[in-house]
Amino acid sequence: MYQLNSLESSLKHFFGYDSFRPGQRQIITEALQNRDVLVIMPTGGGKSLCYQLPALLRSGVTIVVSPLIALMKDQVDALQNNGIGATFLNSSLEREEVRDREHQILSGSIKLLYVAPERLLSESFIPFLDILRDRLGLASFAIDEAHCVSEWGHDFRPEYRQLRLLRQRYPDVPMMALTATATQRVQQDIINQLALQAPHFHIASFNRPNLYYAVQPKEKRSYLQLLKIIQDHANGSGIIYCLSRKNVEEIAARLQRDNISALPYHAGMTPELRNHNQTCFIRDDAQIIVATIAFGMGINKPDVRFVLHYDLPRNLEGYYQESGRAGRDGESATCILFYSSSDIFRVRYFIDQKPDPNEQRIAYQQLEQMIDYAEGTTCRRTIQLSYFGEKFKGNCQNCDNCRDPKPIEDWTIEAQKFLSCVARTKEKFGMSHIIDVLRGSRSKKVEGYGHHLLSTYGIGKDKSKEEWKMLARALLHQGLINQSQDGYNTLKLNKKSWEVLRKQREVSIAVTPQKSTKRAGEEPL
Ligand code: ADP
Ligand code: ZN
Repeated sequence: MYQLNSLESSLKHFFGYDSFRPGQRQIITEALQNRDVLVIMPTGGGKSLCYQLPALLRSGVTIVVSPLIALMKDQVDALQNNGIGATFLNSSLEREEVRDREHQILSGSIKLLYVAPERLLSESFIPFLDILRDRLGLASFAIDEAHCVSEWGHDFRPEYRQLRLLRQRYPDVPMMALTATATQRVQQDIINQLALQAPHFHIASFNRPNLYYAVQPKEKRSYLQLLKIIQDHANGSGIIYCLSRKNVEEIAARLQRDNISALPYHAGMTPELRNHNQTCFIRDDAQIIVATIAFGMGINKPDVRFVLHYDLPRNLEGYYQESGRAGRDGESATCILFYSSSDIFRVRYFIDQKPDPNEQRIAYQQLEQMIDYAEGTTCRRTIQLSYFGEKFKGNCQNCDNCRDPKPIEDWTIEAQKFLSCVARTKEKFGMSHIIDVLRGSRSKKVEGYGHHLLSTYGIGKDKSKEEWKMLARALLHQGLINQSQDGYNTLKLNKKSWEVLRKQREVSIAVTPQKSTKRAGEEPL
């Protein structure tokens, strides 16, 4: 075996870099000892190198599974430009070409073979891998964008489920799974689905200190609100994400009429036009791209100065990814989310259309997390990072809640009422039901469970639903109550909850002044 201290010289030799980025050295070391590895690193952290360098130092061929055909070609081109033997097989190639490449691979000149996950299903591929194993050996499997195996991720791809097959057929070949996004739930899913064996975990911090995060209530004249943000970033590139293609078209057209160089991007456009608009944006021929979430995966534009979400994203992981396309160059950049309660109704409507109850349950939980973020009064980073299982100390001074904190009030009594209601309903219900009981609702559900007979029934009439929700979210953020992660969001008491109930702990929360029932947003443009 080669010496590990020669890793730096290999890095210099193959890639021309002087030093490793945080985490890379250890990941590579573990991989070279044939361990399974799970790499969780934000986009731009340098994941590719973690499997590319080991591939060059091992005998045999490393198979890289990657979901995006366009990206695959770019990566392979970049490697070839560095004089590294790499190629790809996917459905974009003619049969002849595939055969040529297979020959080239078997001749031993290729160290990295990129394949799309659906390739694994094609009849000829597995026999080819068998031959490859027998002749040259399989060095390892690298599974890029590994969160695609999980329904709990933001980009589930059923083809990824087939990856199990690799483990079953080649149990001795080590595997590295890589992703830029993973809640603990998704991490567990990756490990289970890919059957990783006692993997080495590498989890990098997801904090992006140069991004300023803010939420703005979506105003009635939301287009003007948007213009204001663009003006604040005069000349800076920006991405505006909308939920619907129609909105994308309309906003782009309206910006153009207002002499702002903006182009639309969504999956309903022809590939040529999409490519054209994307290229214009990357080359700064257009200042702004107005897009659905179809835009962005694998796009490398380092100097995006702001990302605005015009509509509520479906989930927090997606939001993290999309907003994270700002400020890749490390310079400061802004991420703003427009938020209105009518957006919530719209997302709920979409969720209710889903035929599969399991999918519905997941989508509802994700929506709750999104609301939690948007309505949160504590540091936005703390809220975001806690969904990646990361503890962040708060007070980042680079989010709206930290720079402009809401007034703090003592809500100990209310917290006691809330928590004792959770206790009396036996920790079997979610936030809305608890609030219904506190506010003395006559709903069938409340009476059906006999909760109108509880001593906590109706003791919270003096506060609105929104105020109770604000308290409940604050309790969650402060760790004074837990919520089940099974999709039902059942509230559970913990040690700290009991301290509050026993009057050993006081509760202060940041209070947003509650508006009347008037709802903002959802106005025609
Ligand atoms: P990810 O896949 O995590 O989004 P990439 O693998 O695309 O990130 O790497 C991001 C950028 O960082 C690439 O341009 C890559 O060449 C560069 N990079 C990776 N590792 C190093 C390193 N050790 N030193 C300098 N640049 C690096
Ligand atoms: Zn903050």
